[in-house]
Amino acid sequence: MSAVYFLSPLAADASEPAGGYLSTLRPGAEAVISLFDAGIVRGDGIFETLGVWDGHVQAEAAHLARLAHSAALLELPAPNLAQWSAALAHLAAELPNPGAGSIRLSLTRGVPGEGPSAWLVADVAPTDYPERREGIAVVTLQRGLSAFAAQETPWLLAGAKTLSYALNMAALREARARGAEDVIFVSTEGLALEGPTSSLLVLLDGVFVSPPREEAILAGTTVDDAFTWLRAQGHTCVYRELPAADLPRVSAAWLLSSLRLAAPLHTLDGVAVPRDREIDAALIAALAERTS
Ligand code: PLP
Repeated sequence: MSAVYFLSPLAADASEPAGGYLSTLRPGAEAVISLFDAGIVRGDGIFETLGVWDGHVQAEAAHLARLAHSAALLELPAPNLAQWSAALAHLAAELPNPGAGSIRLSLTRGVPGEGPSAWLVADVAPTDYPERREGIAVVTLQRGLSAFAAQETPWLLAGAKTLSYALNMAALREARARGAEDVIFVSTEGLALEGPTSSLLVLLDGVFVSPPREEAILAGTTVDDAFTWLRAQGHTCVYRELPAADLPRVSAAWLLSSLRLAAPLHTLDGVAVPRDREIDAALIAALAERTS
């Protein structure tokens, strides 16, 4: 099941239209996306994928804040967050409850001269991913990017969730060719960054560590919520530089993302990684149960 809606983006400071925000939504069957749209021709646009659990959109405020941040980095018109929020609520109501789903929203530069295009797609998602229990084999791959690219070379758009994910998909194919399932990207300085579709979290010397948000990574919403939960359990959590050379010393490691939630590593570059099964199960349950 997929529900598709096109949205006519309002200016960020526009007030609610007389017909309500939902009057700016059109079912997919009534609209088309032009083959001249910059999102299709050049991948010139941004997106977000949100998890929906038992009808609740998870980490909505964080995803919308990241959408606004990505829009600013690409110099796209700032999104009207109240409008997007109303659209998310409308699509979430079409997903199974109880059950899991995803909503992917996209905002592109549009057809030249016509302004941005926007659409949302809701889909049913699995409630269970075997890799949450079984773990995953991961390889480190060079990202070819400085960890400081966001500051030094902003036109590389590090930190923006752009539609141009061909590179990320190529990295996952490379992992499969090497007999693994996922990737940890490493910067040109040798710092561990993130996965192609996930954030990195490790337990090192008794502290939960994830690379800093100002590095050339996407600021993950799931890792933020994982830190909130872990801190509530009394654990110390820090965003800090993580040399790839330290990865063989971790007591446990996970790749975190909105739908799969937390996938524990069982192997890194062919070497076994310790598991913390108590944390695995409790962390996944806590992330799944988020109601906002
Ligand atoms: N890093 C990258 C490159 C991603 O594509 C994603 C998710 O798609 C993440 C990190 C994790 O972000 P989130 O936890 O908000 O899903």
